[in-house]
Amino acid sequence: MILDSDKIPEGHSVVSQAIDLAAFKEDLPPFSGPISCEAAIDRSGGTLYIQLRFGGRFKLECSRCLESFDFPIEGQVRLSVREEAGKSGPALDDESVDFFYDTRHHEIDLSPAIYEEIMTALPMKPLCRENCPGIETGGDHTGEQAVDPRWEALKKLHRR
Ligand SMILES: [Zn+2]
Repeated sequence: MILDSDKIPEGHSVVSQAIDLAAFKEDLPPFSGPISCEAAIDRSGGTLYIQLRFGGRFKLECSRCLESFDFPIEGQVRLSVREEAGKSGPALDDESVDFFYDTRHHEIDLSPAIYEEIMTALPMKPLCRENCPGIETGGDHTGEQAVDPRWEALKKLHRR
């Protein structure tokens, strides 16, 4: 999500955007659609406090049955942004602020923060459902099961 500090009014405002996190696409599982973002911004001069909510659906592969399934991710994160001459982008060495902007770089790209939140929300071992039985191996399942043709052949041999 990209905010333009020139267009954010003093006081409270809300900005909504659908983003595709193009810069991080290779590191993320495929999305089923765009990620929707809503930023509630409180601005006081060159300082912005942002309550950012986002939501999207990802295609993950189940770690047991290897089927792909839709996984919704929602999250929110509080960010602070400050105007500082000569600085722009993520504030890597300053813990009191998350992003900088200045008059020459008035667009604030919050995508790195959203990416980080998504990465922490993604399950290490995704499951399509809580009790996924995994890849069907046959044998201990109820109902009709296809019988391995090799067993059928063996049975026939024994009957002789
Ligand atoms: Zn599964």
